[in-house]
Amino acid sequence: DQRNDDLKALIRTIPDFPKPGIQFRDITTLLLDAKGFADAIARMAAATVGPVDLVAGIEARGFIFAAAMAAPLGAGVLLIRKDGKLPGVTIAEDYALEYGTDRIAMHEDALVPGQRVLLVDDLIATGGTARAAVRLLRKAGAVVEQAQFLLDLPDLGGADALRADGLAVDSLMA
Ligand code: IMP
Repeated sequence: DQRNDDLKALIRTIPDFPKPGIQFRDITTLLLDAKGFADAIARMAAATVGPVDLVAGIEARGFIFAAAMAAPLGAGVLLIRKDGKLPGVTIAEDYALEYGTDRIAMHEDALVPGQRVLLVDDLIATGGTARAAVRLLRKAGAVVEQAQFLLDLPDLGGADALRADGLAVDSLMA
């Protein structure tokens, strides 16, 4: 629809970043647009089936969306970071990259088992990052039933994989 087209126009594609052949979707241009960013947050918050206790954001752009959605949802913000960045005792989860693995972490006491957590990131591609985040949150005892993204790259299958993990997955744009 028109609102989607307006938001899509605020995202640009940068060829060959971070390496040759990758078409990188750059959402920093949407963040710069006051109305566009506010619209995106309002629509992502409205798509949330409440109530949720915490919004979990994935480093680094996921923080921006999670933080902005927290107040309208009446929820706190839980940070999922690259391993080694959080100061307290952490639990971690590994996930596969094209070459090698990566590891994300959260504070082990960031949530009380049974709390309802909404997972948020700017973009889902293969789903490797988001699926690792779900495993991590569930390991900590969270009830994770929904994930929201600004942008989905559906050809890469991440959203479907996340649905197979038992989540409702929404994205504003594909
Ligand atoms: P995935 O794990 O393959 O689903 O990749 C998603 C993660 O990588 C998210 O944290 C995104 O922020 C980041 N990412 C992957 N591709 C892009 C892109 O084209 N633009 C912005 N972020 C991306």
